[in-house]
Amino acid sequence: MNYINMTREQLLERIEALELLTRELLREKEQETTLEYAWSGNLGHWYWDIKTNTVTFNPLKVTNLGYDKNEIPEHVTYQFFTEKLHPDDFQKTMDAMLNHLHGKANVYEVEYRILAKDGKYRWYYDRGKITVYDDSGKPKHLAGIVFDITEKKELEMELQIKNQILAERAKIDGLTNLNNHRTLIDRLKSEIADASRMDKPLSIAIFDIDDFKKVNDCKGHICGDQVLIDVAALFKKSIRDTDFAGRYGGEEFMVIFPNTDLAKAIKISDRIRQSVECHPFVNGLKVTISGGVKQYEGENLTELIHSADIKLYEAKRKGKNRIEPID
Ligand code: GH3
Ligand code: MG
Ligand code: MG
Repeated sequence: MNYINMTREQLLERIEALELLTRELLREKEQETTLEYAWSGNLGHWYWDIKTNTVTFNPLKVTNLGYDKNEIPEHVTYQFFTEKLHPDDFQKTMDAMLNHLHGKANVYEVEYRILAKDGKYRWYYDRGKITVYDDSGKPKHLAGIVFDITEKKELEMELQIKNQILAERAKIDGLTNLNNHRTLIDRLKSEIADASRMDKPLSIAIFDIDDFKKVNDCKGHICGDQVLIDVAALFKKSIRDTDFAGRYGGEEFMVIFPNTDLAKAIKISDRIRQSVECHPFVNGLKVTISGGVKQYEGENLTELIHSADIKLYEAKRKGKNRIEPID
């Protein structure tokens, strides 16, 4: 159509006709998109004219944010949406768009949160592509489709939290609530690596409840379990924040003492022993523990544990309720 020779009135008429057509097409498109892509969350198409910075979109995208259709400004810019982006998603959304506009990415594809009218954020999956370039090869027009993925994201996050809780629980011994064997070994590995790298002292101690079989045999396993729980609590209470205690297995416990030499580790270990000896257990039970302490001297993990074990057996042999070596 040759617009050059048209009068102002004719041009206005033409604009009006085109606007009408656009509205009709959009209405059709609105119906078509929800029919075409019936899966949940589909909010329909959007079109962005870069030169005039005009975004034409299915009103569902805005009504989904809690706004009424008549609250939508006549001229909607790209910024109408981006200024409502969650601060943590702003940069990645800009990057996704710029990367596509600069030809670094085949499509514009991003997940982001937008502030809804009720003050809550909703999650969207947005995917678009340049559809028209100008004569100099610059992007002129983009078209895309947007999905509300809030429910999916909330389920994902719920699952993530549940997984985190499960992962935390897997590190803990169910009876005593102390770190379990695997956690102790993992921690010892990393402490050995740190001690070697930074040339800092590291010590460990292995403890074993004395004559525990008798507790089970005379008072029953429930009572035995309670003793294990009480002893574990005493470990937690007696160590420093920097120390790491766990249930090594059965009635055996381990404490890792980072940045601690043998003399200091023996001192804390004996303090733990005394706290057990003095504790008023159920049924007037008298419970004691023995412990073997070893400072790390460049050996591997197995050798280090074995050396602490040898000291523990020595403590047992020498009459129990003691720490070996003792200074
Ligand atoms: P020692 O002074 O030489 O260590 O003698 P002990 O009787 O403690 O040693 P022994 O290895 O003969 O017995 C350990 C007992 O610990 C046997 C086992 O039934 C008990 N035990 C291990 N784990 C648990 C547990 O979770 N609950 C209970 N109640 N008992 C446990
Ligand atoms: Mg034992
Ligand atoms: Mg024992």
